Amino acid sequence: MNLKYFDAHLHWFINSAFADRLAENIGDRSSGEYYIDTYCKDGTLVGGIIMGNGDIHQQGINIPDNFYYCLGLDLKERVAQIDDYFDCIEEHLMREKCVGIKIYPGYIPIYPNSGYYDSIYKLLVRYNKVLSVHTGMLASLSGKLKYAHPLHLDDIAIDYPSLRIVMCHFGNPFLSEAAAVLERNKNVYVDLSGLIEGPFDAQKFMIEEKNYIELLKTWIQYIGDNQRFMFGTDWPAVKCDIYTEFISELFPENDIENILINNALNIYNIKGD
Ligand SMILES: [Zn+2]
Repeated sequence: MNLKYFDAHLHWFINSAFADRLAENIGDRSSGEYYIDTYCKDGTLVGGIIMGNGDIHQQGINIPDNFYYCLGLDLKERVAQIDDYFDCIEEHLMREKCVGIKIYPGYIPIYPNSGYYDSIYKLLVRYNKVLSVHTGMLASLSGKLKYAHPLHLDDIAIDYPSLRIVMCHFGNPFLSEAAAVLERNKNVYVDLSGLIEGPFDAQKFMIEEKNYIELLKTWIQYIGDNQRFMFGTDWPAVKCDIYTEFISELFPENDIENILINNALNIYNIKGD
């Protein structure tokens, strides 16, 4: 089964031993060229959103057609002096390829609702672009989990009702709290990346992790609005094509095409290159 998909959450790290290890673990190589060569070649991957990491001056360069990026604020020392980078951040938001800003609470020890990022949120509202927030489990032992709890997004959603907020990774494993935030805030959306990490066989996973899948389905149904969910991989965490089989299992047949492609384009307001 070859499903077409848009990958709304992927990473192209530059010189990262961590990313190299993740890629090696799934039998891939951590580079943008490898990703395009591997996943676009049979026409199933139609585009995606690169979640930025590292130096903000280096992000958003050489983004291929049908791909976009969120400017990632993941360097502690840069975030500590965020006001100094305000003009540079605004310049990114003026570009069509830049569809939002990604913040990394947990990796960065700042609560997303602390007021620290308020000037950024106002800027996003002004440019009608998306705030993407890392929520849930951290991929490394460094960092502090409390900052990454999905409940913090409730404050932002209420204080900025016209801001579109993407809760990356569905707050996993804080699923019930994530669902509570989503149920009452229609301006909060989910990318379903990062729910699995490492190599897996989709069919086997579906059987062995039946309870996990039921739990995810339960909270998705509780929210009751499948237009607010979108596909993403967190590549190089998993092989993208196999991950589509897992995500498709969570939704009714009629919604799958929207989950895999259209919802992301609507949520990130992407018109196409
Ligand atoms: Zn990610």
